[in-house]
Amino acid sequence: MASRAAGADVGAEPLLVFRDLAKVYRVGDEEVHALAGVSLDIQEGEYLAVMGPSGSGKSTLMNILGCLDTPSGGSYLLKGREIARLSDDELAAIRNREIGFVFQTFNLLARSDALHNVELPLIYAGMGPRERKERAVEALTMVGLADRMKHRPNELSGGQRQRVAIARALVNRPSIILADEPTGNLDTKTGNEILAAFEAIYSQGKTVVMVTHEEDVAAHAHRVVRLRDGKVESDRAQDARRIEGPAAATAIGRIGA
Ligand code: ADP
Ligand code: MG
Repeated sequence: MASRAAGADVGAEPLLVFRDLAKVYRVGDEEVHALAGVSLDIQEGEYLAVMGPSGSGKSTLMNILGCLDTPSGGSYLLKGREIARLSDDELAAIRNREIGFVFQTFNLLARSDALHNVELPLIYAGMGPRERKERAVEALTMVGLADRMKHRPNELSGGQRQRVAIARALVNRPSIILADEPTGNLDTKTGNEILAAFEAIYSQGKTVVMVTHEEDVAAHAHRVVRLRDGKVESDRAQDARRIEGPAAATAIGRIGA
């Protein structure tokens, strides 16, 4: 357990390396330095929370990390490959393979059941029905929803909906799960359900990077990076708080089985 505390494989090449990353937005005559020289290494299997005041660059950082956007300067290596200068098509290909996104609003199709919502990315990828169902069932099981696959979003609680969205993010078997305020629209108890799901994903060896405003949420990560004015203000490893009780049982209890 202790060796997993910071999530890092000591001596291994980092999954992700940012060096002097900059992002400048031009609005009229003005330049906004959303990121002003961010350097960061993230090892495979880390569980990291990104915090910082509104406007400090958190979403900009996540968009670049998730290959949705390119930086204005600096270097971004993902699995040793320079991402900063790729074309949109190349970025899209890497994004589909390596990254799963979870948003504050769940963005599920209202008329489709949980299984179909989770299968969607695989339908777009052209995967056949059998393999795709198998994958979707696996992802829903990982988030503790094996018994809710035929339910539509309006037949699910808020926490269950967000877990469907997490399963959808997992279904391509990405190496990195990115979440921008995933508990922002949920009450504490429901938020714990989501944190239990992330804990389960982390314990399966995936890398989790989560933006949050809440100290109580960040307490569940193994490392907290704080941004201010587009720079890293602090970067600390910590003993992560664990989810206990029923919320843990809904997600984690079913995975080992
Ligand atoms: P956070 O997620 O920490 O609240 P953001 O990364 O969204 O911060 O924004 C960082 C800074 O960049 C802010 O000053 C914001 O106004 C600015 N910004 C973000 N996106 C854009 C954009 N598309 N065009 C211009 N300015 C932007
Ligand atoms: Mg933001």
